[in-house]
Amino acid sequence: MSPKTDVCPVCEQHKDHIQSAMTENDKLAALDKYSAHLNEVKVERQLYNQCVTNARTEVAEQPVPVQAASPMSTELNNVHYTFDYSQAVSIPHHVCQVGPLYFATPRKIQLFGVAMEGIKKQINFLVDEDSTPGKNGTHVKGAIGVISMLHYCFENFGLGEKECHLHCDNASGENKNKFMLAYLLWRTLSGKHSQIHLHMQVPYHGKSLVDAGFAYIKKLYRRSEVDSLDQLASVVRKSATSNEVVVFGGADGEWLDWKTFASNYFIPFKGIRKFRHFAFQADKPGIVVAKEVPDSPGTELKLLKAGVDIDAIQPPRVIPAAGLTRERIQYLFKFIRPFVRAPYKDVVAPSPNAQEE
Ligand SMILES: [Zn+2]
Repeated sequence: MSPKTDVCPVCEQHKDHIQSAMTENDKLAALDKYSAHLNEVKVERQLYNQCVTNARTEVAEQPVPVQAASPMSTELNNVHYTFDYSQAVSIPHHVCQVGPLYFATPRKIQLFGVAMEGIKKQINFLVDEDSTPGKNGTHVKGAIGVISMLHYCFENFGLGEKECHLHCDNASGENKNKFMLAYLLWRTLSGKHSQIHLHMQVPYHGKSLVDAGFAYIKKLYRRSEVDSLDQLASVVRKSATSNEVVVFGGADGEWLDWKTFASNYFIPFKGIRKFRHFAFQADKPGIVVAKEVPDSPGTELKLLKAGVDIDAIQPPRVIPAAGLTRERIQYLFKFIRPFVRAPYKDVVAPSPNAQEE
């Protein structure tokens, strides 16, 4: 299974244009445009590889704290994080899947990964369908979901670095990204990082080490019997020595309202779409430096609202997990419960009456 199977629509369009061009000049012009796109991909790939190399070289040369070091407590300046979602995983999952389950909608578990390439670790977040910020597994892929888990990762697995680089997929769109900028600005404003560099990969060309981590999980999952979230967590843990697991949104980890937080203290970045690289520095409080390509000079924009007292910024409010609707509970009980093995039936697909208090 290849981790990213999606075909890049931009590449496809360029190929079409080359093929359908009538004159030689038109063909050359179309070729030039395609080659510019591929060059952009190449430049971004080189930057990604450079970030990984720098992170690995640095930890090879310096002592690295075990984990959860307090912010800015080490001399590390090249810590690199890549984060992305995998396809969701289902429970129950059996090696010899019974026919009817194929047509049903089993309990859905979201999988979000943060690779820390320097120390060759990947933190994998599993989010049960009843533990998401929205009901029935919703809103986990939005700004609140992504930023809450990234924040948890910094707090619990961070290396106490002063400076870090982040890579993520850019397919998420403008809306989510503006909240991410506010969050990262706040980290540099509140002394959690002195510098952060956010890089967005070219959509559909963003193959990264997170995908490699996911591939190990998928490989073991396919040949495992999984009847509960605990068993799934154990599959993730056993899939590779580099894979760690956090079952998020229930007992461990909370959703935080980073959207309201961002709107309270920061103005949205208009025209964010054309930029792919963003830098945040403690010595430029509240300002983001945005670049289209890695070596362009950059545009500075103040996003911190005028008159905001940095010391008076309040942390975001906790959003409780939304749970399942009654319809979904009934569905799981009726259609999924028969496929779940005995001791886990009441965990994965309990009776609707058991939910009432
Ligand atoms: Zn492409």
